[in-house]
Amino acid sequence: MSDDIVLKATGLTKDFKGFRAVDAVNLNVQRGSVHALIGPNGAGKSTCFNLLTKFLTPSAGTITYDGRDITRLKPEVIARMGLVRSFQISAVFGSMTALENVRIALQRRRHGDSWDFWRSQKVLARLEDEAMDLLDQVGMTGFAREQASDLSYGRKRALEIATTLALDPKVLLLDEPMAGMTQEDVARITTLIARVAVGRTVLMVEHNLSVVATLCDRITVLARGAILAEGSYDEVSKDPQVINAYIGVPNG
Ligand code: ADP
Ligand code: MG
Repeated sequence: MSDDIVLKATGLTKDFKGFRAVDAVNLNVQRGSVHALIGPNGAGKSTCFNLLTKFLTPSAGTITYDGRDITRLKPEVIARMGLVRSFQISAVFGSMTALENVRIALQRRRHGDSWDFWRSQKVLARLEDEAMDLLDQVGMTGFAREQASDLSYGRKRALEIATTLALDPKVLLLDEPMAGMTQEDVARITTLIARVAVGRTVLMVEHNLSVVATLCDRITVLARGAILAEGSYDEVSKDPQVINAYIGVPNG
């Protein structure tokens, strides 16, 4: 295996009023991999994810992205560097069409450009083309002119992914992408993530272990704020410590 690490956490620690939720975690995410963070409830997955995406500030430790120290940088700054978190907010504007949502995301990426630039019909037409292309990538061309609020939950999520892709991510950070999905949507979004992962790195927190088994090259298992096991799905799912950690924690 190559040692081309795109995202690296060293000694990552987070204390909440004396409670250590994440304890000296060392995480190495390999470029081009689909990497999952799993573990029972309360393991520290969300805290870890929020630290990596800069929504929380670590109590100790460092985070590097492409060899650059990003420990003190803000989420918007790292997003512009290509480290983009999806599903962070309900990023979809319900009153707009799917196409408008993606077009706005494209405009946001280039928000330094002048207003006049956006009024040019030629530029708008090109943005629409790009937006259609992104909708195509998530299998949503047939829904381009639909109002976003009318879309099913799974399609809203596909749209969110398109708006995330508009930011041209190199590393895509997904927080429980399957949460609240029907079986059918889980299958569709799994395929979609596999497709958008090509040529990118994906780090995801995910509860659905069959999704993790299908999508992920590498799994880090957290328990009580520390890394319990790491490896392929086959490796970690056979690990007695991992099995133990999950026992008594259904839906963990
Ligand atoms: P997971 O996502 O793996 O279920 P979390 O990262 O949400 O776990 O939480 C890990 C631990 O940290 C839990 O015991 C939780 O109660 C605690 N915790 C999380 N966020 C806070 C907070 N803002 N203040 C205090 N304790 C917190
Ligand atoms: Mg959580």
